[in-house]
Order: sequence, then structure tokens, then C-alpha cells
Amino acid sequence: MVRIVLVQGDITAEAADAIVNAANSSLLGGGGVDGAIHRKGGPEILAGCQELRRSHYGKGLPTGQAVATTAGRLPARHVIHTVGPVWSGETDRSELLASCYRESLRVADELGDRTVAFPAISTGIYGWPMDDGARIAVETVRAMPTEVAEVRFVLFDASAYAAFEAAVGERD
Ligand code: ADP
Repeated sequence: MVRIVLVQGDITAEAADAIVNAANSSLLGGGGVDGAIHRKGGPEILAGCQELRRSHYGKGLPTGQAVATTAGRLPARHVIHTVGPVWSGETDRSELLASCYRESLRVADELGDRTVAFPAISTGIYGWPMDDGARIAVETVRAMPTEVAEVRFVLFDASAYAAFEAAVGERD
């Protein structure tokens, strides 16, 4: 089973094999984690994203899917970009959020990456409640058959860290 490690901090500093970007479907940058990754990783990441748009994703990367690029100047080897669902109080989009974690690990497996750092996908600009986002993240990673040895959840602030700590402590 994957080892789960919680870290409070900035995901761009993580020296994992891959860090996951909570991207938007344009793959061309945005705010939050996405902005920080492109800012600190430099133009090579954007060039990789533009190439993916040209070659495979003319209309953008669909929600719940994941693709990898170089990590440019970041300490990681790859950035895996995934598009989380926007929170909705009316429609249950949990399956799409779970898919982001699964698809990112599938891409990591294809690349042979053994340590993967995730942010709390969808819990920023996309409005997902942190406790629920944390539960889905932890449950999905635990249930996923993968060669990835370690998943690090890199949480930006103390309340996000506490939500993930609680989710890790819950056993069904
Ligand atoms: P989304 O659009 O998927 O909601 P955001 O980037 O807005 O993505 O936020 C996702 C989560 O990442 C939020 O909990 C936010 O606080 C957190 N976050 C923002 N910047 C960073 C960073 N540099 N490292 C780790 N987490 C971050």
C-alpha cells in the first residue's frame, strides 16, 4: 500500500519525482498552485502544456484527467497536470475529484515516478469543502493499485493540514 505523508508548505519546493498541479482545462496557467508552479518552474512547463494542447487536447484537458510535462526549474522531475471539478452543491462531482487522484497516479506509474506530491485539488478557487476534499483524496489514494511508493499531500495552511490529518486517521 502507498505510504501517505502529510506536509505543510509550498508544493513547488517538493523534491518528489512528480508534483501534481491543480490546473484548469486550458493548461495555460491560472491562479493558486497553478500560478505558483508556472512562475517558479519557468517557461518550459508552459511550452510543454502548449504542445499538449496542440497534439492531443485541442479543446483543453477534460475534468478528471491528467497529463505530464517537464518540471522545468522545479526540484521535481515531472509536473502532472490534472483538472479538478468545480464544487457544486447540487450535483455530486466526487467521482471526478477521485478521478484526478487516480489518473495522476496512473500517469506517475507510466513515467516510473515513485514519489508523488499532491495539493488539495479543487479546494481553492474551485471551492470544494476542505474536509470532504481531504477524505476523497485519502480514500482514493489508499484504494488505488499503484507502483508509487509514497504520496505526499502538501497542504498550504494549518487548517488544510488538520483536515488531512483527520482524513488519514479515519479508517472504514
Ligand atoms: P483549484 O482551482 O483546484 O481549487 P487552487 O490552486 O486554487 O486549485 O487551490 C487548491 C489548493 O492548493 C488550495 O487548498 C490552496 O490553498 C492550495 N495551494 C495554493 N497554492 C499552493 C502551493 N504553492 N502549494 C501547495 N498548496 C497550494
